Amino acid sequence: MGIKGFQGTSMLDFPGRIASLIFWGGCNLTCPFCHNPALVLDPEGWPDLDRDTLLADLAGRASFIDGVVVTGGEPTLDPALGDWLAAVKSLGLAVKLDTNGLRPDVLAELLERRLVDSLAIDLKTSPGRYGQLHAGPVAPDGLVASVRLALAAPVAVEFRTTCVPGLVDEPDLRALGELIRGAPRWALQQYHPAVALAPEWREITPYPPAKMASLAAVAGEYAGEVVVKGL
Ligand code: SF4
Repeated sequence: MGIKGFQGTSMLDFPGRIASLIFWGGCNLTCPFCHNPALVLDPEGWPDLDRDTLLADLAGRASFIDGVVVTGGEPTLDPALGDWLAAVKSLGLAVKLDTNGLRPDVLAELLERRLVDSLAIDLKTSPGRYGQLHAGPVAPDGLVASVRLALAAPVAVEFRTTCVPGLVDEPDLRALGELIRGAPRWALQQYHPAVALAPEWREITPYPPAKMASLAAVAGEYAGEVVVKGL
């Protein structure tokens, strides 16, 4: 479990801000639609970036970036994540964390230490279907706990769902909607099959825009703001 990738400057994925993106290797899921299969399936195939060197690089950028986006893979699997983020925060940079929400213990610690300013939690399908996202068993209880933590935390929160046909349809959105009812923002993402982790999932035809719009209307019954991305 280490830092495998770094993009120095990006305006993506940290709304209204200029950020550096940092990619962790490894994950506790193997979602068949995952867009970063190399980081998930073969994290050791990528060299670990030196954390002190990376901090020095961030320090040099601190005058023109607002923060860092911590993504992966699944960053919360890294036991050293909190201490490294504390060093990032000491540079005066904001931190956005992307997570699948299955490590609520880690999330609780990061929030308690005020190491996260913005949080994006993936909601992949109905909690009862999370077993379809991994070869081994997946208990969705962690996701439920993370959602509760996020909704109570004094940080910006976005929930995100990639609308994969066969995995996400109206009943799944309603199950998730009940979980996050009252959330400030829910992003529905179009499915882009070309780089999916599982070869057979590269053959799935994405939903047409009209279907995405109808799913957004459903999501709008539960969240304050719904955005559709990637059409
Ligand atoms: S989509 Fe996210 S949670 Fe799923 S395998 Fe990929 S990195 Fe892990």
